Amino acid sequence: MMTKVVKFGGSSLASAEQFKKVADIIHAEDSRRYVVPSAPGKRFSEDTKVTDMLYACYDLAAKGKSFDEAFEKIKERYNGIIEGLGLDLDLTDEFNIVKACFIGKAGRDYAASRGEYLNGIVLAKYLGYEFVDAADIIFFKETGEFDAERTQKAVAERLIGIDRAVVPGFYGSMPNDTIKTFSRGGSDITGSIVAAGVGADLYENWTDVSGFLISDPRIVKDPLPINTITYKELRELSYMGAGVLHEDAIFPVRKAGIAINIKNTNAPDDPGTMIVESTSQKPQFTITGIAGKKGFTVVNIEKDMMNSELGFGRRVLEVFEKNGISFEHMPSGIDTMSIVVHQTEFEPKEQEILSGLHRNVHPDSIDIETDLALIAVVGRAMKSARGTAGRIFSALAHAHVNVKMIDQGSSELNIIIGVAEKDFEAAIKSIYEIFVVHQL
Ligand code: ASP
Repeated sequence: MMTKVVKFGGSSLASAEQFKKVADIIHAEDSRRYVVPSAPGKRFSEDTKVTDMLYACYDLAAKGKSFDEAFEKIKERYNGIIEGLGLDLDLTDEFNIVKACFIGKAGRDYAASRGEYLNGIVLAKYLGYEFVDAADIIFFKETGEFDAERTQKAVAERLIGIDRAVVPGFYGSMPNDTIKTFSRGGSDITGSIVAAGVGADLYENWTDVSGFLISDPRIVKDPLPINTITYKELRELSYMGAGVLHEDAIFPVRKAGIAINIKNTNAPDDPGTMIVESTSQKPQFTITGIAGKKGFTVVNIEKDMMNSELGFGRRVLEVFEKNGISFEHMPSGIDTMSIVVHQTEFEPKEQEILSGLHRNVHPDSIDIETDLALIAVVGRAMKSARGTAGRIFSALAHAHVNVKMIDQGSSELNIIIGVAEKDFEAAIKSIYEIFVVHQL
């Protein structure tokens, strides 16, 4: 039998109505055997996620303040769902344990993890699936790093024998049995770990959008969804800020060769986006996606005959390294070298870096440019398409955007363009126009 691991995000499980949609989706396919829920998310835009309610409530408890009112609100969220589903389930004992642990200062991670834990109990009851506590099968090392080896073994051993189970997302346990969470949005990671552990055929990640969009809808009006994207392309786009899936969620399934399908709980018939290792499927457009970020600074270093000075680049980078600054890009010319860094990291160290550079490489001049935005144009089809860079530049020229930097990776999977922050939106719109709108 085919096995799918299905993860549902917070908005998919925010209310009894959403729970019903989730159950319909799960029951529609026999293969949906292992379910990873998030904590209840927002029901409407001004609503608060249960995870945030738990953090706030715990912070009161940790300061020794009264947290009864905040705790009651959290109980109401769960009880509302239980009642709405007509479940014969009473979480009073669980709530009392959580409350006692808050008083005993069990930690913020413990507090936040209860969102998924309690939601897992409710969902397991509603589906008639077995509840498996993530603390028993997901482990961290003493250092706080995820313990992939120990976890993989425990997940396989525990779940293979269970036909259908709910495993709450977001947390696991430390060697001393305390609870630790992944970073925010970490239920995606749990889903990926469970999928790899049980050797699933597919990891379905259910959210509230019909997959990845070619560009940011806050910049481009109604961008089209991406049907299929490779792990490599996704990594490039996520690094540049394209959200939907937690970045660390890719590694476990990727290693196991399992594809991810991003799906929409509110529109389950939409195909969503398939994230795959590789594919013979021809992409619809030359580019797969466009993403970008603001907030970069460029340090331009000039020195005559730089090209013949052995070790010049190393000595430049050493200065950044010593100041704890990692660089994003390093375009260079014959007598110039530019280092692109994050503005917020660079600013406090600016003068140390400048004096370090003067000491280390004796440049003719150093010039700093701030407020740069980087845009990544990503696509596996760019390798075999001629003139992609040319098309990007003509689009930008038409939009009156001045290109400050270009960097094409040797894999020809992406082209990075640096523009002034004020031109960021216009640049993205113009690239979308030329590659997508004009190709329809
Ligand atoms: N509930 C956690 C959060 O809000 C984890 C998750 O939803 O994936 O970040």
